[in-house]
Amino acid sequence: MEIRKDPITRSWVLIGDGEYSDIAEPSCPYCPGQESLPLPPILSLPLDGHHGGIRVFPHPRPLYRIEGETERRAEGLYDKMRPVGAHEVIIETPDHHSQLPMRPETEIAPLLEAWALRIADLKKDRRFKYVTVFRNVGELSGQHIRHPHSELTAATFIPRRILYELRASQEYFQMKERCVLCDIARQEELQGVRVVDLSRRYLVICPFASRVPYELWILPRYHNSSFETDLLRHREHLELAGILRRTLARLSHVTDSYHLVLHTSPNTQARADIAGYWTTIEEDYHWHIEILPITEKRSKSYSIKEVYYCSVPPETAAARLKDLPTIPPALPQAKFEFQTSG
Ligand SMILES: [Zn+2]
Ligand SMILES: [Zn+2]
Ligand SMILES: [Zn+2]
Repeated sequence: MEIRKDPITRSWVLIGDGEYSDIAEPSCPYCPGQESLPLPPILSLPLDGHHGGIRVFPHPRPLYRIEGETERRAEGLYDKMRPVGAHEVIIETPDHHSQLPMRPETEIAPLLEAWALRIADLKKDRRFKYVTVFRNVGELSGQHIRHPHSELTAATFIPRRILYELRASQEYFQMKERCVLCDIARQEELQGVRVVDLSRRYLVICPFASRVPYELWILPRYHNSSFETDLLRHREHLELAGILRRTLARLSHVTDSYHLVLHTSPNTQARADIAGYWTTIEEDYHWHIEILPITEKRSKSYSIKEVYYCSVPPETAAARLKDLPTIPPALPQAKFEFQTSG
């Protein structure tokens, strides 16, 4: 495995060593009573008073490795480096069949705490420029581990989409002296047509230029650039847990599969000679959660000349999602169980 930089788009790409197939496990190593895990958890948090309800482990098939230096080097005009970083699995519950929208909010709040604690901890490592959390859920999302989990990655580079966001946010701020996402939140609240949910501190919208049908963003209605600093300081986990649960419950009436990714500020403590956007990040960047549902088996999105095609207008998606129940449909829970991927 190595990381290569596309000299034209300047995006870093992970190049693997071959096909990435499902992990064949005779039984789930993350279920209670299984002793097959080689290492103790990196972090363990109680859930409803039960010790070790949430556990964080190194990923069994990591994209990044924690040891060593990146050894960034040139190959002619090309750039490449070792995949130094961290890749962790956050086991969200001991219950193999528990989907997030079915859980009480008191069980989702400690999960958010685990996300924040792990991000904050890995940001102490000055090699890592970007640390984030994501969830791939459902057959179509490339979910490899069946037990309910989130994943965390720490990388020595900033992913391309985050770079776009950082640069655009900074440019907007320089022009208007305001944060673009604060402005978006305000306008969406006024217009209302793309609002799916609203609480005291958080807003859920289908974004104006949604890339896929039913795309959702969860954003704070106040300004803050860093998810982990914000959460660990204000401790409003329950409210965010509630809005996240309701959003995923609504979405579960539309699709079983989605990608969820947290966009938080990069590691401003990282060894970085890249000046510029580091200095104003706290003012111009605004953390948020993006949810990209997978509603079609073979997505038309991004297939037409590299332009996203979204078949459902976000206004229609928002109106529909808003009216959907905030409890998930009675799904057969074993749906994603060790299916032989035939
Ligand atoms: Zn399990
Ligand atoms: Zn803002
Ligand atoms: Zn984003």
